[in-house]
Formats: sequence, structure tokens, C-alpha cells
Amino acid sequence: MAPTDLLPFSTTNLPKQLFINNEYVESSNVRKLTLFNPKDGSLVADDVPLAGEEDVDAAVAAAQAAFPAWRKIPNKARQEMLLKFADILEKHAETLAELTRITLGMPVSMGKAEAGIYVQTFRYYAGWIDKFVGESYPQENGFLKITRHEPLGVTAGIIPWNGPVVLAAFKAAPALATGNCFILKPSEKTPFAALALGSLIREAGFPPGVFQVLSGDGSTGALLASHMGIRKISFTGSVPTGKKIQEMAARSNLKRVTLELGGKSPAVIFDDCNLSNAVKWAVGALVMNTGQVCYAATRVYVQEGIYDEFVKLYKEGLEIRAKAIGDPDNESTAIGPLVDEAQFKRVTGFIERGAAGQGCVLTGGKSGTSATGHNDARGFFVEPTVFMDVNDDAEIYTQEIFGPVSVLAPFKTEEEVIRKANATEYGLMAGVFTQDINKALRVASEFESGMVGINCVSLSFPDAPFGGSKQSGVGRECGRAALEAYTETKTVMINLTY
Ligand code: NAD
Ligand code: MN
Repeated sequence: MAPTDLLPFSTTNLPKQLFINNEYVESSNVRKLTLFNPKDGSLVADDVPLAGEEDVDAAVAAAQAAFPAWRKIPNKARQEMLLKFADILEKHAETLAELTRITLGMPVSMGKAEAGIYVQTFRYYAGWIDKFVGESYPQENGFLKITRHEPLGVTAGIIPWNGPVVLAAFKAAPALATGNCFILKPSEKTPFAALALGSLIREAGFPPGVFQVLSGDGSTGALLASHMGIRKISFTGSVPTGKKIQEMAARSNLKRVTLELGGKSPAVIFDDCNLSNAVKWAVGALVMNTGQVCYAATRVYVQEGIYDEFVKLYKEGLEIRAKAIGDPDNESTAIGPLVDEAQFKRVTGFIERGAAGQGCVLTGGKSGTSATGHNDARGFFVEPTVFMDVNDDAEIYTQEIFGPVSVLAPFKTEEEVIRKANATEYGLMAGVFTQDINKALRVASEFESGMVGINCVSLSFPDAPFGGSKQSGVGRECGRAALEAYTETKTVMINLTY
């Protein structure tokens, strides 16, 4: 798509300035980010701003200045801005996808899916603006009590690289809808779509300081998490970083924290399931975004009566998908490269160590050029890879790999499989496949996870709570839950006998 005045950026004119107070500005930090295209390892840019302390302070100051007026603007005006922003995002979705793809390698088809969700998310939260009401309590001894949901003030979102605009939307939309100012810190691996949002933010009519974008790395994230002027951090990323964020939040000003962290999600497939449906979801869950999805079903448990047949169909399904590994710019590509060399080394390291003694490889295992089946790519490609006969203390069984790698294991009884499914510190998502409604609901209630799919797995919706139990997170995003998380409940007590 040709650049327009509205969105002046493209892959040949990348956004390389911070967006503070509705202006694109240079960073005061001399350090810069360097980015590569994962489909061939070529340099994309080495001069992308890495926001430092002065930049963060400037953004927080602008947000603090904007907040008093922003929290009070009429519902209708706020709603129109969010709706207009959704419209503009939709109009420029193709360019935003290109700006993401150039450093993430997310295929064209997946970019379209991402756009559908982030546009819907802004529209969904625009709709809440005049409906997120407080409560009134029974009168007692002459007192009336009512509650109000009040914005927190300056809030910030720190996001990973695997869905750079949709994850921004999950945080920004409810934050802005409830009257907060919001600062977005995209991943150092995928800054461009986020930085490009500035021109659209301005066009949608958000006042200066309300919605700002600071590219940077973990050091920028740490400045935000420990800032005394920020009242909430919503973080999506890994468990170790999430723990640091919560610690920094506590040590500074006890800012509110939402954490959306990793997973090692189980899919539990019973003898009485619809087998082709179970195979379809299990395959889709593993290959989506090249396995770089927090809620991917990466532990697949299959009851012994259908185990052999499932093994055959799962392998076939993954091998069909593996044929469409390739150039993410190509419309017919289903699986692109992993995001960068570091992730490639991490995932292929797990695969190599796994194959060298932790289990046997059912399918996949190849990486780099050989994974694409043709020689025109040199990027960070990895085949969907499944291990069998893995001990339950092996690293490929216990750790989040964040690539298209799963372990497959048979089970006999419901009790046994629930014990296995829950034997992890993660608790993001789980899936159960059966045509017995009682068993489905029983198992769904036994899973220790924030989300459960029945006859589906590894999916989410902007209008329903999203998040994990145990070490997969704290709090929920999406749905009404996010509105609660971006507001303080104020109780007002009225003396009726005065
Ligand atoms: P990461 O934790 O390395 O980084 C995430 C973000 O945190 C980045 O923006 C990074 O710059 C920032 N950061 C890094 N160190 C920081 C620090 N000390 N203080 C503040 N910010 C810091 O995660 P990643 O490798 O980018 O993403 C992969 C992880 O994200 C996986 O574990 C995955 O499961 C998880 N994830 C979770 C969800 C979810 O909703 N639950 C969604 C997508 C990804
Ligand atoms: Mn990381």
C-alpha cells in the first residue's frame, strides 16, 4: 500500500522517532536498536530509538499534564476517538502488517487475522465507555452507598514481539476507554508498527499526551515499571521479566500490575472425541505464528484407544502445514520464520538437545533453509516438531519453548491425565476433547488454568477475559475484566439524614 499523509510510513520509510505529546521526536538517548529481517537475516535498521530516562520522564510529564482534562471529556467524544482510531487502523492494516512483518516474519495471512482482532478490540472498548457503571447498595441506617470506577492516571503497557499491534490494543483500548493516559513500550524486536501508530493517534483526535509510544528495550521497560509517576503497568512477556516488573512496581510506588506471561498448555484428547476436530485444533495450535504463541497447546495427551490413529493424523496434518513454510511476504505461506536469531538458536537448541536423548522425533526437526524445502530462503525457519516418549522431567516437556515444538503422550484414565496436565507451574490455557458433556465440564473445572477450551484449544476473544493462573500471570485482560484492572473503585457514602 502506498504511504499516505495520514500514515506516512512504509517499509521503505520506517518510523524512527519516539511519539511524545503528539509529536514525533528524536530520542535523547544515544543508544539505538538494531533490527534484522528474520526471513533472510538482512539488516533492516540500526538507528531505531531506544528511549532513555529523559524520554520516559518527558512522556510521563506529558501524560500527567493531559490526564485532568482527558479523564473528564464527555463519553461521546472519547467514544468517537476510539471508533475513529479503529477505522483508521482498519484502513491502514496492510501497511501496519508490513511494518510488523519486516522484523517478525509473521505471514500475510496471520497479519490479516491480527488486524481483525485489534480493530475489533478498539470498537469493543469504545462500546463500553458509556456502559461501565458503578453500583448502588441497599440503604442502611440512613446511608446510601454508591461506587464509581475512576481512572488510575498515567498507565503503561510493555509488550512482547509476537503480536505487536493486537497486544498493544488489549492494553491501550481499555486504558483509554476508562479515561487513563497510556504509554506503549513495544518490544525491541518489533518496534515499527507501534511507532507508526503515532500518526494515527494524532489523526484520531487524541489530545497530546494521552497516547504515546516509546520504542526501547528492557531498560526502557524498567524505567516505566519503576517510575513514580506511573500508576499501572500491564505487561505481557516472559515469567522472569514479569517477576522483575512486579518487584519494581512494589519497590517504587506500588503501581498496579497486570501480568500476562508464558504457558505450556495441555490438550487432553479422549477416546470418545471427534478425532478430526481434535487433530485440526492440535495442529493449528502448534503452527500458528510459528508456535510463538503464549497459549499454544504444546503438551498433547491422547487416550490410548485412539493414540495410534491420532499419532498418524497429527503427523500428517503437521507435515501438510510444513509444506507451506516460507517467505512471509508470500500470500500462500502458512508458517514464517521465527522472530530472530536468538529465538532461532533457542528453539533449535531445544530440538537438538531433545533429539539427542530426551525423546524420539515423530515429525519435523529440520531448521534453516532445509526446513523450507527449497533453497531460496536463508532465514530462521523451523519445522513443526513433535517429540514422543519423553520423560516428564525433560526440559522439552517442562519448559516453554516458544516455537512450533510439542510433546505427545498417551494416557489411560481421566484422573491420570488431569494430574499430568496440572503438574506444571504454568496455567494459561488447557483444552479437552470429548463428546461427553459431563466429562468435558468435569475436566474443564479440574484444569488449573485461566482459560479452557472444550473441543477447541489455543484461542481467545477480545470480549472474554484472557489470562493465566499460577505463574502464567496475574489479573485478566480483555472483556469487562480489563476495565476493572484500569480503574480504582471509589465508594461514596451519602448521609441521607443530614
Ligand atoms: P520478554 O519478557 O523478554 O520481553 C517482553 C517485554 O518486556 C519486551 O518489551 C522487553 O523489552 C521488556 N523487558 C525486558 N526486560 C525488562 C525489564 N527488566 N523490565 C521491564 N521490561 C522488560 O518476553 P519476549 O521474549 O519478548 O516474549 C516472549 C514471552 O512472552 C513468552 O514467555 C510468551 O509466553 C509471553 N507471552 C505471553 C502472552 C500472554 O498474553 N500471556 C502473550 C504473548 C507472549
Ligand atoms: Mn526475551
